[in-house]
Amino acid sequence: MFGQMMDLPLLLSNQIEFAAKFHPSVEVVTRTVEGPIHRSNYEEIARRSKKLANALAKLGVKEGDRVATIAWNTHRHLELYFAVSGMGAVLHTINPRLPPDQLKYVVNHAEDQVMFFDTTFTKLAQFCAASDTPVKHYVAMTDDDHRPADFDAAKTYESLIADESDAFEWPQLDERAASSLCYTSGTTGEPKGVLYSHRSTVLHSYAVTMADTLAISAKDVTLPIVPMFHVNAWGVPYAAVMVGSKLVFPGPGMDGASLIELIESEGVTSLLGVPTVWLGLLAAARAANKRFDTVKTVTIGGSAVPPSMIEAFEKEHGARVIHAWGMTETSPLGTANVLLPKHASLSEADRRKIEIKQGRPIFGVDLRIVDDDAKVLPHDGETSGHLQIRGPWVASSYFKREADANHVDGWFYTGDIATIDPDGYMHITDRSKDVIKSGGEWVSSIGVENAAMRHPKVAQAAVIGVKHPKWQERPLLIVVKAPDQEVTQEELLAFLGEHLTKWWIPNAVEFVDALPLGATGKVLKRKLREQFADYVFAE
Ligand code: ADP
Repeated sequence: MFGQMMDLPLLLSNQIEFAAKFHPSVEVVTRTVEGPIHRSNYEEIARRSKKLANALAKLGVKEGDRVATIAWNTHRHLELYFAVSGMGAVLHTINPRLPPDQLKYVVNHAEDQVMFFDTTFTKLAQFCAASDTPVKHYVAMTDDDHRPADFDAAKTYESLIADESDAFEWPQLDERAASSLCYTSGTTGEPKGVLYSHRSTVLHSYAVTMADTLAISAKDVTLPIVPMFHVNAWGVPYAAVMVGSKLVFPGPGMDGASLIELIESEGVTSLLGVPTVWLGLLAAARAANKRFDTVKTVTIGGSAVPPSMIEAFEKEHGARVIHAWGMTETSPLGTANVLLPKHASLSEADRRKIEIKQGRPIFGVDLRIVDDDAKVLPHDGETSGHLQIRGPWVASSYFKREADANHVDGWFYTGDIATIDPDGYMHITDRSKDVIKSGGEWVSSIGVENAAMRHPKVAQAAVIGVKHPKWQERPLLIVVKAPDQEVTQEELLAFLGEHLTKWWIPNAVEFVDALPLGATGKVLKRKLREQFADYVFAE
């Protein structure tokens, strides 16, 4: 027997229509590529999305066609989110930091028909126009006064939509229809496309608004620093539109001073981004003697959050860090770290031990850990294994790829090595490809990095395994010193001796000016391993 409930599809067009109807005047504020601050609201975003959908239809975009963006977080990008997906086409958000060969690869693989680009990225669009790609139309996301001088073939966004009608009937799509496409950064092999659906994206929007997750709410002024080209800015724009949170977009102003100005002028309450962004912002705030009085929560994911960062936000800004974990393949939210009532009486040091974990799974996704033979391991907080996930916002396969080794028996192998404790807190100790095996025991590179970053003279730390005649591999600590600070190997190793189990203490420390970062702001361990391939520990 079926239930007798209305079978309405979960569609992204419903989110923007809902916003226009029930919170039309809630603001969307953008620092534009052209320079000035632009103020819009959900009513206007919805109206302009419809004009854009009409314009796209005239360009020949049909259901299922892919439309690419190479763009910052802006109001126009938000309009594209809803116009493209709403009309049944697929929004392919491209990371502008991709190397040229990968850029060309993803545009061809996605078979993009139209490419929208911010003028900051005109060269990338021109590169695609000059290469053999399927793109038929290029649109610069600006007005005619700011059109790129040397790209005649490109239209401008404002002239494209200017004369279009703001009446558009959103099609009643199957909720399983594809809505957007995001490629993994391809640190290993070719980038792989994750094809989200309307259903998965709407369900994920609910997930990020839950009180024990990122809790995006109408009470918030939300500033996603995480880019809209990186897993749809963690789904935050959709969630904000759905609940009616004021949205603040930094555009190209990703430097500390611009961000601080925007946080202060707009009264931002919720910030979201990867750890490398916060290192810069925290330093800029210290230098300018600023305290983020309005900010209540800072959501951090993408890489492990060092305890020193949780401390800095808590003590210097009175803000709570929400440590979250996810992947492009998981939309991305898989777990979020919020403390339980029983943790209220813990000392700060003991609380921190829980806060550095990646958090508890959100209903909808299921998590487990397995050993090398796929045997399910206990949730005892001690045993570590390969982390697997499944759920309605987890990719079932990659775009235009049949089988892959990561999808087995209805579960997805994340490539992370983790423990899960009896309360469900998942803790990542390593990426499986970064694991350091010393004399049969695993050294957690994240554990060592976190400890090193507690040293006040350390700005950034990364640990890699280096061949060792006796122990197979031993950890090498690579450090970027804090600005204007001097620190020696001896000093750091002595410090780590106070915080780590003996066999985790690295055999040596090397100092570098900067760590190699990938397209999504993560430390590229592969590059570090190449750089230190011939490294030999001194006796
Ligand atoms: P890519 O960087 O390859 O594009 P993703 O952005 O999808 O891929 O990255 C997913 C991976 O990032 C996860 O499998 C995990 O290793 C790492 N990651 C994400 N969040 C965290 C976190 N909070 N702590 C540690 N690692 C994390």
